[in-house]
Amino acid sequence: MDSSSLDGFRCLNTACPAFGQAGLGNLRLRKWYDTRSGPRRLLRCASCGREFSELKGTALWNVKLPRERAANIMAHVTRGNRFKQTAELSQTHRTTVSRLVCIAGEHAQCVHDHHAQDLQVTSVQADERHSFVGRKDQPCWEATVIDSRSKFLVQNALGARTMDLAVRLLFGPCSRLYDPQSVVLFTDGWLPYDSLFAQVFDRPDQPKRQGSRGRLPRLQYRIPRMSGHVRIIKTYHSKRVTDIRIECAARSQRRIDQELDALGYITPNTSAVEGHNGTARRMNPHQVRRSLAFARLPHVRQTVSDLVNAVDNFCRIHRSLRVKLEEPVGRRQYAQRTPAMAIGIADSVWSVLRLLSTAIMPTPCRS
Ligand SMILES: [Zn+2]
Repeated sequence: MDSSSLDGFRCLNTACPAFGQAGLGNLRLRKWYDTRSGPRRLLRCASCGREFSELKGTALWNVKLPRERAANIMAHVTRGNRFKQTAELSQTHRTTVSRLVCIAGEHAQCVHDHHAQDLQVTSVQADERHSFVGRKDQPCWEATVIDSRSKFLVQNALGARTMDLAVRLLFGPCSRLYDPQSVVLFTDGWLPYDSLFAQVFDRPDQPKRQGSRGRLPRLQYRIPRMSGHVRIIKTYHSKRVTDIRIECAARSQRRIDQELDALGYITPNTSAVEGHNGTARRMNPHQVRRSLAFARLPHVRQTVSDLVNAVDNFCRIHRSLRVKLEEPVGRRQYAQRTPAMAIGIADSVWSVLRLLSTAIMPTPCRS
């Protein structure tokens, strides 16, 4: 019985004084028990007396398949394989794949919400991708906000290409950033970005009322000196870009120039998010171009998207993020990094199994 291997576990009882704290030594191994997917440990908290499975709070809790096989299914789907192809490759049923992917997607979003807090980000890029749900005449856009430097996907939102989509897309990252008032936003020419920028990234200011009666004047938004918004407006002719116009929609030019220098850009562009669009289309079976493999249900579309984004952030290395080692290890001269490592919320490349096995606090997934 090895108690040191229990150090990473935490009590999941919200009423327990040791709730959510790891390494207190309050957890004991109660017993091993057999399941169809192999032996599991039952843990007992000495502080509150509650017993729970070692997989409680993870995406693998109550999953009947062996955990390696479940992770293998997620790896297939996040390489752009359709559910039917994945079922054939992993020798499971198509509905099993669909069900597991939905569970994993919800869990992946919880992991993202838990880790993506107080992000040290100075500039973000936003863009939208086109896809379908249900039928070819039901478009479902996926809009993303990505950190220009680390390529970390901060926020995504799905739906019709309306103002509501832009609101969900821009207000989400605002709560995840450490200092949203010092961010430079690079976007395409979609007008909702322009009209929402002041409300999202600026401080509201209530003008004084003249006299003591009547309604208060409308809120005014003052753009801080440290923030800026650049629109890269492309003109298309026969699906080809014929003209690119760069417009500084919000001040200040000095802050924008400073950010371009820091990023190593000569002209403002949305290369990070455009590059991510290409990768995301290959990773998500519902976004592969010229295919009919789009999702039938909005819920499935959303969960696959969340799973793909979390795998991209935590599990996939990006060649552009590698750093040179001070001392070469054999023939290896570079250390590869994921976007989560580059932004500073992970210290190693996660496997898909680790992503699925991460217990979520304080609201355990599927509990
Ligand atoms: Zn407890």
